[in-house]
Amino acid sequence: MTDQGEHRRVREQLGWYALGHGTPEERAGVRAHLDGCAACRAELAELAPLPAWLARVDPDRLDEQQPAPPAGLGDAVLARIAAESAAVRNRPSRRVLAAAAAVGVAAAGFGVGWLVRPVPPQPPLEPVAVEVATTDIQATANVIPHTWGVEVRLVGEGFTAGAVYEVVVTDEDGTAVPAGQFLGIGPGELSCNLNSSVLREDATGFEVLAADGTVVASSQL
Ligand SMILES: [Zn+2]
Repeated sequence: MTDQGEHRRVREQLGWYALGHGTPEERAGVRAHLDGCAACRAELAELAPLPAWLARVDPDRLDEQQPAPPAGLGDAVLARIAAESAAVRNRPSRRVLAAAAAVGVAAAGFGVGWLVRPVPPQPPLEPVAVEVATTDIQATANVIPHTWGVEVRLVGEGFTAGAVYEVVVTDEDGTAVPAGQFLGIGPGELSCNLNSSVLREDATGFEVLAADGTVVASSQL
């Protein structure tokens, strides 16, 4: 006969056991309990997909900034947690905690990391003041420093519908470097991303030029 304490102890060990970890003595201890306990064998069977999931982890990708999880791993673990939460409302499930711990330990924090790293880091937006040459136009902008140059994210309205506008970023020498063009859409709000080859630290401003070269909006950086 086994007592509840032993079940609990073994169930906390099933995660690493399922992954083939543990010393021979430790594994023998778990196996001895499993031989006489159908309930714990059933628990182990539910953890069987773990090694297959982890086998799909490409070690070469572990150091990448945005690792892609093996297909279905996050969903599968979340589904398990959701199912457990629904089934056992009053007690945290040791099995799920142990499974999560097993994934985390085996993948050096990588596996569970997917669950708590939901979105890629956002680029640093730098809001900048925009001066407009006419009250017909309203505009706001953020700039983003990239390794290849500064990006201008322009949001505005009142740019004449169908008219072509050019955006230039000026560098320290006063050179106007093209950053792209956009079509005005009239009173509706437009949002466009304009990329220049001028690095943020070298950029002194940007200008939005109408087709005749008139500056209709500008910003000092
Ligand atoms: Zn048991």
